[in-house]
Amino acid sequence: MTKIPNPSKDSLGHIRLTSHTGGNNLSPIVWGSTSPQTRGPVVGTTTNRNNRNVIGTHSGSYSIYRALAVASGNLDRKHQADLTNTSPTDQIGPYPSWFDPDQIVSLDPWGAEIERNFKSEIAAQLDIKPTIAITRAHIFLPEIMQAIEKKRLIPDGVFLLENGSALVTKIAVEPVWHLPGIAKRFNCDESDLRRILFEETGGMYPELVTRDDLKVFLPPIGGLTAYIFGDIKDLSKPDIPLTARVHDECNGSDVFGSDICTCRPYLTHAIEECVQGAQKGGVGLCVYYRKEGRALGEVTKFLVYNARKRQIGGDSAAKYFIRTECVAGVQDMRFQQLMPDVLHWLGIRKIHRLVSMSNMKYDALIESGIEVVERINIPADLIPEDANVEMDAKKAAGYFTTENIPDEEELAKSKGRGLNE
Ligand SMILES: [Zn+2]
Repeated sequence: MTKIPNPSKDSLGHIRLTSHTGGNNLSPIVWGSTSPQTRGPVVGTTTNRNNRNVIGTHSGSYSIYRALAVASGNLDRKHQADLTNTSPTDQIGPYPSWFDPDQIVSLDPWGAEIERNFKSEIAAQLDIKPTIAITRAHIFLPEIMQAIEKKRLIPDGVFLLENGSALVTKIAVEPVWHLPGIAKRFNCDESDLRRILFEETGGMYPELVTRDDLKVFLPPIGGLTAYIFGDIKDLSKPDIPLTARVHDECNGSDVFGSDICTCRPYLTHAIEECVQGAQKGGVGLCVYYRKEGRALGEVTKFLVYNARKRQIGGDSAAKYFIRTECVAGVQDMRFQQLMPDVLHWLGIRKIHRLVSMSNMKYDALIESGIEVVERINIPADLIPEDANVEMDAKKAAGYFTTENIPDEEELAKSKGRGLNE
């Protein structure tokens, strides 16, 4: 058998640690600066270590797959992206929020227009990658087809086509953390935050503790996608009615239709509301955050499902949050404090119809300075039978509802299916 030569081996050379200062050709990033030139590009390249000005690298958790591709000889580590024709379909901002270093701390406001903003740097062979990409799409969902059949939605040929497709602008955003701002948002000391990030990732990024001069971190976590229905520029106009949902990933329900929660029905209901909103002269927005299972991950989530259904008395709303806490140590790790950043980046100051019952999301939006006029419940007929445990528990815990809040007796009733049913 012929052994395939590993091209990356020859170029490995000696290990060059990034954990010491010096040898950095770039000026520090001035977060919150009023122009991309004075702010400076975010450079997380691994091709030229001297040109980096951040901790970590691009693509969030996918940076590990890039490493695998290099290690297995499938990718030349010197490969530099050819960005021809990749520029955004729609221009966003700049908005005043971009110039406030505390308003946006978890994404790079200038991360989409790399070619336009940093032309000379790119011409000088600096390996700058966009952290935001903006494109257009048609989305086709069976729930939207059903809404058309039931005459709740009427195709107009502009926002909703006769075949049931809705027209959207969609934006993918990778996380870019300004560590001083993240620390401030969570009321902790920056040096403590850096040390704990270092330790809790198994020592993955030594610069967190050795390079105090590097203030920006590209964390190895999932990002988010924003779907916009209607004119993207209308998002920043408080007089134009905005329908919005901020949705946290739930693969089981969102993709596979698992009926233990309300995630997909609520998401598709929000999309229906967004399309309707756009048709009435407003604009719609659904943001999808990669925070599976309350950011505890899907393994934890499935462990909790088993624990809920096996406990004495069966699956009841009274013990919904406790079972999660037993397994994970906390009820939730989504940290909604960072959620509004993307809305501020889009210039949003007012949400007329928030399609969410979450008090945590509502509070985070209000605290960040976004006005919320009305909150929209998930319609009762969209709640799957087995998801009533979740709904009751959340209502009792402070979720917004126009219905009765379940009392103790109601919460104690077993309403979930057994494990083998
Ligand atoms: Zn769910």
